[in-house]
Amino acid sequence: MSAILIEGKPIALDIRAEVAEKVKLFQAKLGRAPGLTVVLVGEDPASQVYVRNKGILTREAGMVSDEIRLPADTAQSDLLGLLAKLNADPLVDGILVQMPLPPHIDSQAVVAAIDPAKDVDGLHPVNAGYLAQGIEALLPCTPKGCMIMLDRIKAQVAGASALVIGRSILVGRPMGALLLSANATVTMAHSRSRDLPALCAQADIVIAAVGKPEMVRGEWLKRGAVVIDVGINRIPTSEGKTKLVGDVHFASAVEVASAITPVPGGVGLMTTACLLQNTLQAAAAREGISLS
Ligand code: NAP
Repeated sequence: MSAILIEGKPIALDIRAEVAEKVKLFQAKLGRAPGLTVVLVGEDPASQVYVRNKGILTREAGMVSDEIRLPADTAQSDLLGLLAKLNADPLVDGILVQMPLPPHIDSQAVVAAIDPAKDVDGLHPVNAGYLAQGIEALLPCTPKGCMIMLDRIKAQVAGASALVIGRSILVGRPMGALLLSANATVTMAHSRSRDLPALCAQADIVIAAVGKPEMVRGEWLKRGAVVIDVGINRIPTSEGKTKLVGDVHFASAVEVASAITPVPGGVGLMTTACLLQNTLQAAAAREGISLS
């Protein structure tokens, strides 16, 4: 058996096209476009690429994109001051502070300083609390993207046994909460879990968000499982170059799973599409309008 590939590109393109359509509606109703401000502290090369890409896609969707770049030695109090100004700015609908932050800045304090109504990363404790209670709010982009992928292939989530490997605030925990809200029976695995292969063998749905290259093997999986690979790991090749791989050993897993996301070309592309969706959602909620 060879699994169906759940490719992120066509799904992300659909989401972005739908957002762009709704942005036109928003503009027609309000006389302005939704605005996303991304704050980057320091010069981390990967973060610079992410921020640039987010800006390009935000503008492509017809929204206003603002990028604020601050030096790596910015004081935490100055960053919090900036966030207070952005919170108060009526033209800013979404605020995203690019992670990781320099070590002298407390990222939890920074996330908590963003107005939850503008928290398009869905990481503010208020939004995380809503999610934990199963109440609709701004959702973290990567797990939201994973749920959309499951929905797209009409995966049977209700009643399914779902295993989430990884319990980060960014991916694993919100993923578990979303699957629970969708009526899956959820198991959360982490570095202290015993016998991961046995846990995988029980799971109809496996979400791998670990950061360990190709850790999950095809032999661990239940035949017909749906596998969503969130991992993005750069590893060296035998030719002295590097390549991206996921947390799942694709070549063995594709033979056992019924559907699987590739890396690259899978979940990664969904994250920014969901960020645009969240920005529009935040803008519409702040303005008290419906775009459906
Ligand atoms: P993270 O904060 O480092 O969390 C990793 C989680 O994996 C932790 O909960 C850790 O357990 C668990 N873990 C580590 N080793 C394990 C093992 N041997 N067995 C079981 N669990 C283990 O990472 P993250 O931010 O969630 O990211 C995970 C991966 O997803 C990374 O590769 C990252 O690059 C990728 N990612 C991709 C996207 C995207 O857009 N596609 C977005 C975000 C992240 P403990 O809690 O016990 O330490």
